[in-house]
Amino acid sequence: MENYHNQRRILVTGGAGFLGSHLCEKLMKNGNDVICLDNFFTGTKKNIDALLSRHNFELVRHDLVEPILLEVDEIYNLACPASPVHYQYNPVKTIKTNVMGTINMLGLAKRVNATILQASTSEIYGDPKEHPQKENYWGNVNPIGIRSCYDEGKRCAETLCFDYNRQNDVSIKVVRIFNTYGPRMHPNDGRVISNFIVRALAGDDITVYGDGNQTRSFCYVDDMIEGFIRMMAKSRDFTGPVNLGNPGEYTILQLAEEIIRLTASRSKIIFEPLPQDDPLRRKPDISLAERELDWRPTIDLETGLKKTIDYFRRLLK
Ligand code: NAD
Ligand code: UDP
Repeated sequence: MENYHNQRRILVTGGAGFLGSHLCEKLMKNGNDVICLDNFFTGTKKNIDALLSRHNFELVRHDLVEPILLEVDEIYNLACPASPVHYQYNPVKTIKTNVMGTINMLGLAKRVNATILQASTSEIYGDPKEHPQKENYWGNVNPIGIRSCYDEGKRCAETLCFDYNRQNDVSIKVVRIFNTYGPRMHPNDGRVISNFIVRALAGDDITVYGDGNQTRSFCYVDDMIEGFIRMMAKSRDFTGPVNLGNPGEYTILQLAEEIIRLTASRSKIIFEPLPQDDPLRRKPDISLAERELDWRPTIDLETGLKKTIDYFRRLLK
């Protein structure tokens, strides 16, 4: 049945996290009814503070590993810790969230005939042998390493999406997210941009793992959210997987130097051992997103870093 106001009812799992909170905000701005589901493992009510009193927002404290019955038109399945420090804290739980959580959401989508967008990751490419990474590359993933709970969990989640699509005709949208940053990243989540900014602002040493020549491509959060929304709006036959990310590629050493420059910090760069299975290079080929979604990032690294630095300055005051 159509809902009373004829608004779309949209479920965002992991809605109190970094990306989820920005997504809830944008979906509400666009006039939708949003249900934010979160167990607050890495997310926080603070991220959604401004939304809590709004009539088109509901918060459900729930663990995605357990089934839930809701009436919704669309599901954005973002629940899962994203930083290596967080997803390695309880690896079995990370796998459960990715596998059982995604089964629960696909089952819900099937029951209520909702479209589901799955937040996959560039990590499914592992330590890639092809560069830049295109969607048809199958990846180079260690199945038994310390990153596997996340990489293989997300790979299995993609498999589940495509099997529910083939077997049960569930409408799916799979986006492969490359490193994304911006305000509301957790200050202690161990990800490189938050780590470097927090340390630079405090004047502490900046820890580069390995020799710092490994590369990443960093996308500002607003660009990423726009990509999600375009993907959801796209016709049912475009399932993805589609890469979303900023193709600008930087070494971690360049990133450290840029953050020191932008914060005018006196921090020194120190070197620590590279964690196991840390990918050497990563850069998305986004030609599919450009063609199908007419999407490309609009915010360059310097602009995005300045916004993120402002956020952390206010947070840590
Ligand atoms: P985040 O850790 O800030 O957000 C994840 C949210 O999911 C948190 O609010 C957390 O409390 C919630 N959550 C975790 N396990 C849950 C469970 N079992 N039940 C209910 N809620 C649960 O991370 P993020 O950066 O916002 O990432 C969001 C999604 O995007 C994740 O699925 C992540 O894998 C994916 N992703 C993010 C990036 C990135 O660079 N930010 C890159 C690739 C993929
Ligand atoms: N990294 C680093 N110092 C830090 C945190 C991360 O040198 O304090 C490196 C890390 O080894 C990796 C890159 O930065 O090569 C990106 O790490 P992050 O955890 O942000 O993302 P991911 O490895 O999942 O892409």
